[in-house]
Amino acid sequence: MTKQAVILAGGLGARFGKRTEAMPKGFIEIDGVPMVERSIQKLIANGIEEIIIGTGHCSEFYDALAKKYHVIKTARNNNFANTSSMGTLAVCAPLIKGDFLLLESDLIYDAVALKVLQNESRANVMLASGKSNSHDEVYLATNGNGVLQEVSKDKKTIPNPAGELVGISKVSKSCLEKMLAYYNSSPSLIKLDYENALKHVSISGESVFVNKIEFLAWTEIDDESMLSRALDEIYPRIKENESLQKIRREVLLNPGPSTTSDSVKYAQVVADICPRELEFGDLMEQVANDLTAFVADASKYTTIMFGCSGTGADEAMVSSCVPPNGKLLVVDNGSYGARLAKIAGVYNIDMDVFKSSTYEPIDVDALEKQFKSKKYTTFAMVHHETTTGLLNHVEEICPLAKKYGMTTIVDTVSSYGGMPIDLEKFGIDFATCTSNKHIGGMAGIGFVVCNKEKLLEQKDWPMRNYYLNLYDQYQYFLETKQTRFTPPVQTLYALRQAITETKVETIEKRFARFTECWEILVRALDKIGLKMLVDRKNQSHFITAILIPDTPRYNFNALHDFSRSKGFTIYPGKLGNIDTFRIANMGDIQPCEMQEFVAVLEEYMHSIGVC
Ligand SMILES: *Cc1c(COP(=O)(O)O)cnc(C)c1O
Repeated sequence: MTKQAVILAGGLGARFGKRTEAMPKGFIEIDGVPMVERSIQKLIANGIEEIIIGTGHCSEFYDALAKKYHVIKTARNNNFANTSSMGTLAVCAPLIKGDFLLLESDLIYDAVALKVLQNESRANVMLASGKSNSHDEVYLATNGNGVLQEVSKDKKTIPNPAGELVGISKVSKSCLEKMLAYYNSSPSLIKLDYENALKHVSISGESVFVNKIEFLAWTEIDDESMLSRALDEIYPRIKENESLQKIRREVLLNPGPSTTSDSVKYAQVVADICPRELEFGDLMEQVANDLTAFVADASKYTTIMFGCSGTGADEAMVSSCVPPNGKLLVVDNGSYGARLAKIAGVYNIDMDVFKSSTYEPIDVDALEKQFKSKKYTTFAMVHHETTTGLLNHVEEICPLAKKYGMTTIVDTVSSYGGMPIDLEKFGIDFATCTSNKHIGGMAGIGFVVCNKEKLLEQKDWPMRNYYLNLYDQYQYFLETKQTRFTPPVQTLYALRQAITETKVETIEKRFARFTECWEILVRALDKIGLKMLVDRKNQSHFITAILIPDTPRYNFNALHDFSRSKGFTIYPGKLGNIDTFRIANMGDIQPCEMQEFVAVLEEYMHSIGVC
């Protein structure tokens, strides 16, 4: 799958006259959004992680857009007035790393165009459509094998066209190099456009295939009459297609799995592939590297994935990371800490449990006393205790544990991807997570981010586990670029898209979004008069445990069913004899949706006389 796109946006847009004198064509708005920005959003939703925009005329507009989307890089063609699209592509070339999608800037199109190109296994493909009747058609001719032979606006040159040029292509790095060599071969080619460069490469041996989508909804917008045609005919078709593909929105306020974006859901629909193919190995390697990079320096840490839930990752970590004859100390201040201890028990690992309040911060002095006994090789705790929403201060506790010589293993399942984490700074050697919480993928992949030096210590330890063995899984992948057993193939494609969307949003901004949702919730609880289990200063902002109101009329199932009928799923929580219900901020949830939910909550609480 291609990860880079190049948008050629250097042109003057002269055919628009006054309208584009002080603005690039791509900034003409369709339904309130500049057409180039529509294109950018579609590219991101289809796996593109980096967009290079070749600018020229009014380049400052694109530089401003690059501030809004940090995945955009701009490259200015200073000679835009005397060159054409190939001149702009040449300026972008140094930023291009491999395969890329090449787009014109003045297009609106149905996103299926990108899906088709991302699904292509051929290296160079030019997208074509059937008859557009746009009165500005560029015709394509192919040979019997569908290889591009001619590009022309003149129907006489191409009496039986294979299709019309859309302005979206997939280009390989070697094809780009040949295009550049041709462009630079003679000064007379200064005004060459990219489509003719592609044609030249195609007829001189590196095939460029034409893939035609007969009824693709798309148009280039070059002048006022094309703009009105776009608004009256084409955009309504695109909008209808897109609304038909929308999946019913269910906002999950339960503590995982979390709400996913439609683009993550659709990312699972891919060609079948044997996971032992190198292509899939490359995908897993890239995913693992990206997962590491979110929380650590990839030269010191590595990510090991398994087909399992978050608990599977916890089990892999606990059962792999305690040395033979080692001793584990586990902090238990909620269900997930208790679960770590339970796993260690099942594997007969020698262990002590440090019990701490489920809703108050850990007493670090008392814990340090226990550290001082020097009985332990390994220290385990949970970063964010999802049971209550209590955020534990791992960044204070783990460096201390390391000071006393312990290896630190931490469940970061419900904090990873939701807030900035630096494993080295936090003193964490091993951290677990899952594909389905803050990272926003589908459930099915558990992973452990490991300090490599610590991981390598496990090399000669006798195996206490089999499927879940960290070192074996690591070593096998290193040697073969394969997992030992069948990985959840489609889930990995979804995770890859979720990673792309995390990179686009950034983890800092994601944390800010969750915090905004949490503030909306907390304000509403104050207004309704509901109390929270954990003091707000100790809360994570990811989960809020709310004490149930003191009235016999309260019924969790009734609240659940009422919320669900409005599109919100909530979850109960019982801590000893304390009854709560819990609201999570995870995944693809927006502040406006939390606003809608608190109105639903208030309506229910009002109906039972709480407010
Ligand atoms: C969700 C969660 C897990 C794992 O749950 P699974 O259902 O196994 O995915 C583990 N630890 C914490 C802190 C969690 O929030």
